[in-house]
Amino acid sequence: MDYVKLINCMRCGMCLPVCPTYKETFFETASPRGRVALVKKVHEGELDQSERMLEYLSLCLDCQACASACPCGVNAGELVAEFTCERKSESGLGFMENLILRKLVPHPDRLETSMTPMRLYQNSGLQKLVRTLGILKIFPKPLGRMEGLLPPLPAKPLRQEIEEVTSAVGAERGTVGFFLGCVMSLIFSDASRATIKLLSKLGYRVITPRNQVCCGAPNMLGGDLEGLNEASRTNIDIFAGYQLDFIVTDCGGCGAELKNYAHHSTDESAAAFSAKVRDISQVLALHSDELRAVLKPLNRKVTYHDPCHIAHCQGIRKEPRNLLTLVPGLQYRELESADACCGSAGTYNICKPEMSDRILQRKLDTVRASGAEILVTSNPGCLLQLKKGLANQLPEVTLMHLTELLTLSMSQ
Ligand code: SF4
Ligand code: SF4
Repeated sequence: MDYVKLINCMRCGMCLPVCPTYKETFFETASPRGRVALVKKVHEGELDQSERMLEYLSLCLDCQACASACPCGVNAGELVAEFTCERKSESGLGFMENLILRKLVPHPDRLETSMTPMRLYQNSGLQKLVRTLGILKIFPKPLGRMEGLLPPLPAKPLRQEIEEVTSAVGAERGTVGFFLGCVMSLIFSDASRATIKLLSKLGYRVITPRNQVCCGAPNMLGGDLEGLNEASRTNIDIFAGYQLDFIVTDCGGCGAELKNYAHHSTDESAAAFSAKVRDISQVLALHSDELRAVLKPLNRKVTYHDPCHIAHCQGIRKEPRNLLTLVPGLQYRELESADACCGSAGTYNICKPEMSDRILQRKLDTVRASGAEILVTSNPGCLLQLKKGLANQLPEVTLMHLTELLTLSMSQ
């Protein structure tokens, strides 16, 4: 860990009002400033890594809202993640971590097969019965949380359906590689299908390599740097096999990780790969006039939730909003604290259910206050978390990925 990053904190407190866990607890130890101080003290040998201290650090969502607010460039979320990674690389992965991060996540075929029982569970009507009878209450709580987050699954993962090459509609303006995020392919395949459709409609030939693997974000989250490096190496080599203008993703978490490959490696190919990565909103924003010409009226009140991995990690805020306001008749309502985390944060909503629910509640209150009929966002973690929250409290609000809303407008 770079010690300079730790001593850059001047303890001004400007990060406190944006930190979700500080807002819920008002504990200094649950604030960005407090977390930086804790890591610094451990680094200087003045503090032991006690259970309590690690618990405070583990409450961090790594949402990086603190980094956006800090005038000194301190990124408390990233420092906590690096600290966790360093600890893990010393202690090694546990049995289950090894099973999930090394044997399952890097293998798309295995990941897809692992979803088959879930699909059967839903399609057989068993899910409905289990939910009606409340049977999951007798099982460990995390299982119930995971089940509660699971939306209806598509018949097939998109990776198994999509052609490797989708031709451009009309004159071809270029070629893009499409990075198909695991959760997008397995669960939100309609959104990624819409993404490919938009790119092709704008004149891009879209290449979706079938052998691409997970971006490595779960490895990073689990402190498995070696696994992350393997994932990045595989993806860099695969996409280097094509002449591409951009590597596009519609998954905020994947985009942030892919752009970060260059930070984890000194290899020039990693820098070249990361430099080509774009969030879908960045590519669509290059073609606003053409989009305006094909979008048809959609008289709905719409608001936008900034995924942390898009707003804080990639600094993308205006593109999604500008794209929404291109839709004729759409009434855009800005969400209060739109870039505040929704409480999803990888597996945080399973591991820290109480804090996650409190953070989600704030988000749902702002959605209610906005009066929106449609909530738009562009990250699978947020989609899962918000889908569950809306179903419980605001069933009248429809949740959509940005590209789904744009293709809906196109097809009116
Ligand atoms: S992390 Fe940044 S914003 Fe927060 S107290 Fe330190 S210097 Fe100030
Ligand atoms: S990453 Fe998020 S939760 Fe963690 S310290 Fe920063 S603002 Fe707080």
